[in-house]
Amino acid sequence: MALDVLLTGGRVIDPESGLDGVRNVGIRGGTVAYIGDDRADAARTIDVSGHVVAPGFIDMHSHAQTISGHRLQALDGVTTSLELEGGALPVADHYEWAESEGRPLNFGFSAGWVYSRMHVLDGAPAVRPQDDREFRIPLGMFEQFQDGARWRGPADGRDIGRILDLVERQLRHGAIGIGMLAGYAPDFTAEEFGRLADLAAETTQPMFIHARSMSAEPPGSALDAAQEIIAEAEAHSAPMHLCHMNSTSGHLADSVAESLAAARARGVPVTTEAYPYAAGSTVIGASFLAPDELRRNRMTPSSITYLPTGERVASEERLVEIRANDPGGLCVLESFDLCDPADKAMLLRAQTVPDAAIASDAMPLTFFGTESQRHAAECAATGDVWPLPPGLIAHPRSTGCFARALSWLVRDTGVLTLPEAIRRCTLIPAQILEEAAPAMRAKGRLRVGADADLTVFDPATVAARGDYTSLRPSTGFRHVFVGGTPVVADGELDAAAFPGKAVRGAGARAA
Ligand SMILES: [Zn+2]
Repeated sequence: MALDVLLTGGRVIDPESGLDGVRNVGIRGGTVAYIGDDRADAARTIDVSGHVVAPGFIDMHSHAQTISGHRLQALDGVTTSLELEGGALPVADHYEWAESEGRPLNFGFSAGWVYSRMHVLDGAPAVRPQDDREFRIPLGMFEQFQDGARWRGPADGRDIGRILDLVERQLRHGAIGIGMLAGYAPDFTAEEFGRLADLAAETTQPMFIHARSMSAEPPGSALDAAQEIIAEAEAHSAPMHLCHMNSTSGHLADSVAESLAAARARGVPVTTEAYPYAAGSTVIGASFLAPDELRRNRMTPSSITYLPTGERVASEERLVEIRANDPGGLCVLESFDLCDPADKAMLLRAQTVPDAAIASDAMPLTFFGTESQRHAAECAATGDVWPLPPGLIAHPRSTGCFARALSWLVRDTGVLTLPEAIRRCTLIPAQILEEAAPAMRAKGRLRVGADADLTVFDPATVAARGDYTSLRPSTGFRHVFVGGTPVVADGELDAAAFPGKAVRGAGARAA
């Protein structure tokens, strides 16, 4: 039977088998059907010589769960975009909404622990995305209920039980693991962590954790927070994933990396990820951006840029004012200084931690323009509009994480080889997730029978174009196929393509 598509003459890299050579790759019916040297019979043949053909990139950490967010990530080589750190509530409705609206990329959500706390401790409603534009992305709940009085604090045994019930229900509705934004609710008790870990172990679903602290100083430093995760994973035999170790470990990144390596060597089920940027991005109301906490984190108000106005926060007074008026407003937070050679070297070392995934922490689009641009920009941020109108911004990792990994880490600094960088964008995340979400076994590798999620790029020119003041997609990704359907063709996004499928956790039960 003829192939649908044959990609000819590309450098085919498969991190699972170690294949790295010029081959032709054929797609039929959504799967990879041929890899070899022949010009197999195909309805369509595309010459990709001079390009790399790799499995599609799997982003474990994307808050950009909108059509526009996915399109920007497709232009960065991503084929599966998962919201695992924050998760969602209610998970079943978020899956249903994404399926009914259509997604360019494969998608999935974890069970949102912080949202469960907001619901149980502050009575925040779990609004369905179908019912309110503000809640179309899972992170909407985070932005809307920052003000709650109790969700950041300790819970008693009875409330912990209610939080766990809600998390467990999300796992039965198909959530992939438990998203634990620990650093945003840092006063939860050891009892709560232990009971969550037991649930993770029983269900063999990982916990995806934003560590409890990013402080450079003990007690309660970023190293203590990483060691807490390792200790819980070890004590409960629960798989745990430390999110963005580059940003939350800060200047303790080397010590955190050492602790993780030692734990993994003795069989503790801990994994991690990093993204190649010197600055982070979050809501300005985050606990760790309070003036006292900033000092402990060796930052000042001027380390923060408040995105809705573009201002660098001038003083503690101004920081306190913005946090009070708009706690859910997005900001960018500088943690490393790339002009300082020691800082740059440390950030690069954090990108080479053994077996760490590359994950973007992509952010949703924020309005950043003149009042006359507001309506069109806000509609485009959550709707089906392409090309995007002016007046939108997001941390550049949202559009360029993977291009920057291939350009900065491979081409410019050489800290990773090309096959190793590809392994971190594909096979490693697939392996971290495949027990919890069996669909991942057919992703992240390029072999006959695998899903035809493929990324074709020019390794000599691939580049991230966005920065902290302008939103621009990456260039150099020539073709991106999701389940055999082109989402990017000849470097252009196809705005009619919605081949993304839901990826669900193994705990999903028929309703
Ligand atoms: Zn985070």
